[in-house]
Amino acid sequence: METLIETVRFHAGRRPDTPAVLCEGRSLSYGALHHESNRIAHAIRAAGLTEGDRVAYLGKESEHYYEILYGCAKSGTVLVPVNWRLTAPEVSHILQDSGTRLLFLEGEFAPVVARMPTAPPETVVPLESITAWSARHPDTETEFEAGAGTPIAQLYTSGTTGLPKGVVLAHRSFFAVRDALLREGLDWIDWRDGDIALVGIPGFHIGGLWWATQNLNAGTTIVAMRAFAGRHAIDLIRELGVTTACVVPAMLRLLLTEPGVSAADFTTLRKTVYGGSPISENLLEDSLTVLDCEFAQIYGLTETGNTALCLPPADHLPGGARMRAAGRPYPGVRAKVIDDQGRELPPGEIGEVCLHTPARMVAYWGLPERTAQTLVDGWIHTGDAGYLDDDGYLFIQDRIKDAVLVAGENVYPAEIENVLANHPGVAEAVIVGAPDERWGERVHAFVVPAPGERPSPRDLHTFLVPRLAAFKLPSRYEFIDRVPRNPSGKILRRELRDRFWGDSARKVN
Ligand code: ATP
Repeated sequence: METLIETVRFHAGRRPDTPAVLCEGRSLSYGALHHESNRIAHAIRAAGLTEGDRVAYLGKESEHYYEILYGCAKSGTVLVPVNWRLTAPEVSHILQDSGTRLLFLEGEFAPVVARMPTAPPETVVPLESITAWSARHPDTETEFEAGAGTPIAQLYTSGTTGLPKGVVLAHRSFFAVRDALLREGLDWIDWRDGDIALVGIPGFHIGGLWWATQNLNAGTTIVAMRAFAGRHAIDLIRELGVTTACVVPAMLRLLLTEPGVSAADFTTLRKTVYGGSPISENLLEDSLTVLDCEFAQIYGLTETGNTALCLPPADHLPGGARMRAAGRPYPGVRAKVIDDQGRELPPGEIGEVCLHTPARMVAYWGLPERTAQTLVDGWIHTGDAGYLDDDGYLFIQDRIKDAVLVAGENVYPAEIENVLANHPGVAEAVIVGAPDERWGERVHAFVVPAPGERPSPRDLHTFLVPRLAAFKLPSRYEFIDRVPRNPSGKILRRELRDRFWGDSARKVN
């Protein structure tokens, strides 16, 4: 099977009554998902849309999100899921840029659309009345036939490195990994009959959409959370007997810091898949202890259309060198590291990570020049700095643009953040570069103290001196209450960095 249309048809025939999506006490079976998405597909066509038209979804996670995803697939339209935390001008940018013609809109976000500086799309369907909207259409399949290369989704990158770009993904993006693992008989990430899979990452982010579709391709049951919260996730895991979960590191931290949390909360969990941003060693080791199940790390970008690398459970040995790796390529995926002249670097040398994967994006929507810069001869240039070891494991340093240039030396924030997080008085740390007359840039540390702790800058400095080269040591420490993050758990470094650089072009990405 190579399209989402085929997999939902298959499971609707084979297991019509098995729940496909559980959300807020409601259950949507595979049979219902198939039939409701058929109706939606007919309704989308009846609204005047045709192959390749864009359909947006602005709402929190719900079973409707998946009905619409498959409805788009069956009508040949392309789903544009919009991050519901965006402001009116940001939503407007995405709707305008994508040329969205039909918007599914949850009532809670109607005021955002009303405040947009531009007119809303020609058809707006309130999410609350979607069943009535599609009811008069047949629940039989449409005649549209998709192939592996047919576009199905357009995801906007979160814009941590600039204005969001629409990444066009085809059906093939959602098949490459599971197929490769099955073919090779690898259980790095496995999907078993009867699995109940928590989708912690929102569906407008590649991590959430990837995890949900892998599970739906496999015929398991997904648990959609309207919005992630630590206590709610723990309750769902206990009540529903969740067996697998996919989360970003920030969500692991929320789970572990929930008052009263213990291993007893996670007894049904057999595998936790995590990724999306660097994880500190102590967070990973604490997670292994408390969640007490197999762990697999994933690494990828929206542009790789899927996760491209995985750190399998067998490499999660506390204290082991591989615990700091992001993973190694799935079968069929290649990774290389290049210098700024495009030359491939040998193992151990740091450069830009490039990935060659069959799941890669089709293109950035409407941006041929950006596409040509990022997708070169089938290789995605990730913008991440990293190195490969002799066994082909990739170690991510950080984003190239986040590197702090101290007297000509690249300092990668994630490395210092990781070491600082090992100090008992530190809950989290964020490193940014600040201007420095002598060295060009200096390392500035923002520190969130651990509960009840207040380490002094001198304590922190003394702790770091034996662990880091002198040029990596922060020149100043500043205490903050929380780390600003986007919904996919990435640190919004720009928010902290901007006050040092203002509008200066040097550091405003
Ligand atoms: P933008 O490109 O505009 O910043 P974005 O942050 O949404 O958008 P994504 O495609 O969501 O981009 O994220 C991809 C990035 O996430 C990678 O380039 C990498 O920096 C980071 N990332 C993903 N997985 C991991 C991982 N396992 N370890 C470290 N970093 C990761």
